[in-house]
Amino acid sequence: METMFWSKRIYLDTASTTPLDPRVKRAMGPFWSGTFGNPSSIHQEGQKARRALEDARRQIASRIGALPDEIIFTAGATEANNLALTAVGDDGLVISAIEHPSIINPARALEESGQSVKIISVLEDGFVDLDKARQLISPDTKLVSVIWASNEIGTIQPIKEIVKIARRLRTENGTDFPLVHTDASQVARFLPIDVRKLGVDLLTLGGGKIYGPKGVGILYKRRGVSIRPLVLGGGQEAGSRSGTENIPAIVGLAKALEIADSLRDEESARLTKIRDYFWQELKKNFPTVVLNGSLENRLPNNLNVSFPGLDGEQLVIELDARGVACSTGSACSMKETDQSYVIMALTGDIDRAQGAVRFSLGRETVMSDIDQVVGSLKKIINKLNSF
Ligand code: PLP
Repeated sequence: METMFWSKRIYLDTASTTPLDPRVKRAMGPFWSGTFGNPSSIHQEGQKARRALEDARRQIASRIGALPDEIIFTAGATEANNLALTAVGDDGLVISAIEHPSIINPARALEESGQSVKIISVLEDGFVDLDKARQLISPDTKLVSVIWASNEIGTIQPIKEIVKIARRLRTENGTDFPLVHTDASQVARFLPIDVRKLGVDLLTLGGGKIYGPKGVGILYKRRGVSIRPLVLGGGQEAGSRSGTENIPAIVGLAKALEIADSLRDEESARLTKIRDYFWQELKKNFPTVVLNGSLENRLPNNLNVSFPGLDGEQLVIELDARGVACSTGSACSMKETDQSYVIMALTGDIDRAQGAVRFSLGRETVMSDIDQVVGSLKKIINKLNSF
């Protein structure tokens, strides 16, 4: 059997990215140089690539309850999120305080250009404050974007409730607005996605979090929803995203989603057990440790904790030196501050935000890894406390 991973290190950073599943790699194989055509070409090479592209589109659409023409391929979740926000049109965006930077930063740019951007606060347990959401989502809101599960603390947000708020206003407005977008990048490994049942108008997915290739993603866009293309050119993806489609990556994304679907229940149950054991061990060995966000309604792979008085980044560096890869939060989070804006939004506690460490488990994680990590943490924390 092919190994997916190096043997000695313990990788607990799958919320940042996952390795490529060997089955995905195999599925991508024929599309590097065999079936290499440009799907927009009319010759046979092109048409073969077109078939692969449209097969992948159909497969992905049917997995998430969408129609094939509602799937736009992008170069990752960041681009899909940026594209989704263009649905706001002239004005009226509402986002949560714990969005990924690929929502926060384009929202900031909209605000700087004079648009209204409102931020739904989150409660200390890591869920959006629905009362605040009801106040902020108003008849002039065009688009609401709330992350389905936080990449930092794994809390699963009440998207259906957000959709309900938006739909009530749509009826009152007699229009299609407010629209609802969600970033499902982190949930795809753990929750079934059905865009119709969820009721969202736009949804983001990326390959790099589901054991698929990086640099590929989709934006689901319900029929009838208008966006403004960010990349102009040859008019691919029905004019929504120009540029020759990345066929190997797109084929890989479809395969990764198929595998995620088949493993979802088993992996969710397995990782919940390991994660809960991890949390019990941390509490037993480090009585002052605090959990960031609720343990209920949380992704099975996520444990985000703060060790009061200790610096999260220092812990991550020390753990790395002992063979454990984890993170202080989002790998692509804002570099201008060294504390997590997500934990700040939950608690307003700088010490806690600075001490946060995110462990995100994966298909390679086994129970004995946890004992090793806790053992390393004991040594590190003893050393740091002795200074
Ligand atoms: N959205 C979420 C929730 C993420 O966790 C990430 C990556 O960390 C992204 C979007 C961006 O993904 P990419 O860097 O693959 O574009």
